Amino acid sequence: MDEEIPATFASLGLSEDVLGALDALGYEEPTPIQVQAIPLLLSGRDVIGRAATGTGKTAAFALPLVERIDPQDRSVQALIMAPTRELAVQVAEAAHRYGAPRRVSVLAVYGGQAIDRQIRELRRGVNVVVGTPGRLLDHIRRRTLDLGKVRYVVLDEADEMLDMGFIEDIEAILTETPMERQTALFSATFPPRIADLAERHMRSPERIMVQTRQLETPLVRQVAYTVARPYKLEALGRVLDLEAPASAIVFCRTRVEVDELTESLGCAGIAPALHGGLNQTQRDRVMKRFRDGTADLLIATDVAARGLDVEHVSHVINYDIPQTPEVYVHRIGRTGRAGREGTAITLVQPREHGLLRAIERLVRQKIENARIPTIADLRTRRLELLRTAIHETLVEDEFDVYRDAVAPRRSSGTCWTSPPPPPSWLPTRPAAKSRTRPRTSRSSSRGSEGATMATRTADLAGVGTASRVLAGAGNMTRLFISLGRRRGVRPGDIVGAIAGEAGLAGNSIGAIEIADQFTLVEVPESAADDVIRALSRSRIKGIAATVRRAKDD
Ligand code: AMP
Repeated sequence: MDEEIPATFASLGLSEDVLGALDALGYEEPTPIQVQAIPLLLSGRDVIGRAATGTGKTAAFALPLVERIDPQDRSVQALIMAPTRELAVQVAEAAHRYGAPRRVSVLAVYGGQAIDRQIRELRRGVNVVVGTPGRLLDHIRRRTLDLGKVRYVVLDEADEMLDMGFIEDIEAILTETPMERQTALFSATFPPRIADLAERHMRSPERIMVQTRQLETPLVRQVAYTVARPYKLEALGRVLDLEAPASAIVFCRTRVEVDELTESLGCAGIAPALHGGLNQTQRDRVMKRFRDGTADLLIATDVAARGLDVEHVSHVINYDIPQTPEVYVHRIGRTGRAGREGTAITLVQPREHGLLRAIERLVRQKIENARIPTIADLRTRRLELLRTAIHETLVEDEFDVYRDAVAPRRSSGTCWTSPPPPPSWLPTRPAAKSRTRPRTSRSSSRGSEGATMATRTADLAGVGTASRVLAGAGNMTRLFISLGRRRGVRPGDIVGAIAGEAGLAGNSIGAIEIADQFTLVEVPESAADDVIRALSRSRIKGIAATVRRAKDD
C-alpha cells in the first residue's frame, strides 16, 4: 500500500478554485472512492459508486458537480436526492463549501422545515438543490421547483431511499429532469432493486467500488465508541482519562481538524500537531518531542503519519473513523508492534456503522463496541489510581510528595500555571466543566516536560507521584533497570519490553518509577528471574540495559 504513489486532488482534473476550497478545508489527499469517481464524473460519465458513509463519497460526487455548474445561470442545474433531512443538510453544506470559490449556490429542501421559506429561496434562484424525495415532489407539484434545466442528478444512499419506500417518488422526480442529464448513484449496498433503478434511469454507468483486500492486523485490542459529532471531544477526553495511554497517536481526517483538536486539548506542547502543512524542520521538531517523551500524544493526519517510525505507541485513537478499512489497518499497525500490547480506539458516528462493519470484515475480527465512560466510571478509575499511588508511596517511603502537595504551589513555567489546570489531555471545553480538578500539582522537581501521561493520571487522582501502577498483586519484587528518563524511557517502554520480551501480562506488572538515570519496576517474584534474563538479552529503546534485583539500592 505504501509503495503506490498517492493521487493528488490536482491530478484528478479539478480546477484551481476548487483545489483552493479543499486546501482551506485541510483535505490532504483524495480518498480511494474520490480517486475513482472524480475523473469519471468530470468526463460526463454516469457512475454507480459503492461506498458507505465515511468514505468521502459526498466529495466524490459533489466536487465534479460544483465544477460543472454555471453560477451565472440561476436555474437549478444539479439535483441531489438524499434519504433523510440530516443527510440532505450535510450534503448541502459540503457542496456549498466545495463550490464557494465558484459562487455556486446550494439549497437544502426537506420535510419538517417551513415550505414558504424554501419557496422564497427557490424563487430567488439556486444552482444546486439537495432534497429528500417527499419534499422535492411536493415542490414539483406546487410548481415551485423547475427541473427542466438539470444536467446533473445524484442519488445519494440509494439503498436507504429504497428501504424507506421512496422508489416511486424518485422515479417521478427523475422523469421531471431532462433525458440527457448525467446521473450518479451512490449506495453502500447493492440489492437487485438498485440495479433495476440504474438500468431504467442511467446511461451505461461505470461501476466503481473500493477494492478491499484481507490484511493482516496486529494483535491489538480494538474498541469502538459510538458518539455523535458534537460530543466527540468530550468522549475523547473521557476515553483518554480511562485508558491513560503511555503514548498515543490520535488520527483526524483533515489538517483543520488536527489543528482544532490540538487547540482544544489545551497545552499544545503536550499534544503537538502533525500534518501536511508543516515544513520538514517543524515536522522533525514535533517528532523529536514525541519520540523523546516530551509529548505523549501526537495528533496527526494519515498523510503526515505515513512512514512514521515510532518504536512503541501504546494507543492508536481514531478520532475520525478511517475512510477505508485499509487505512484502519494501516493506522492500528502503529501500535502492538513486535507482539507488544496495543490498543486501537475508534470514535464512530452512528451513521458510520456501515464502515465499521466493513472494517470488521476486513480485519476478520469483531471490534468491541464499548460504552463511553460515565463520570462515575472515571471517578472509580481515579479512586483506583489514588489507592495504588498511596500504596506505592507508603511502600517506597516517598512522603516528600505529600510535602509537595501541601507546600505553596510553584509554577513550572510552561502551561502549568496556578490555578492547577485539569489534566492536559482533557478537553478544555466543554468536558472540563464536568471534571474535578486535581487537588495537588505535579511534584515540581519532576517538571512538566518529562512527565508521562500516566503521571498526570496520578495527579488527577490527587497524588503527584511519578510512578505508574498496573494492578500489581501478590509477592512482588522490584527490579532495577539502568535506563531512565534521560534516555527517553517511558512506562509504555517498560511494560512493552517486559510484556514483549518476557511474555508477562501487562496487568501483572506493578509500580514503575522512572528516575533520570534508572527505572524501578515491580514484577511478580515468580517471574523476576525470567524478566531479568529476557531484558538483559534485549534492548529498551534500542539501548542494552543492566537489569537486576533492586533490593540493595
Ligand atoms: P462522507 O463519506 O462523504 O460522509 O465523508 C466523511 C467525512 O470525510 C466528511 O467529514 C468529509 O468532510 C471528510 N472528507 C471527505 N473527503 C476527504 C478527504 N479527501 N480528506 C479528508 N477528509 C475528507
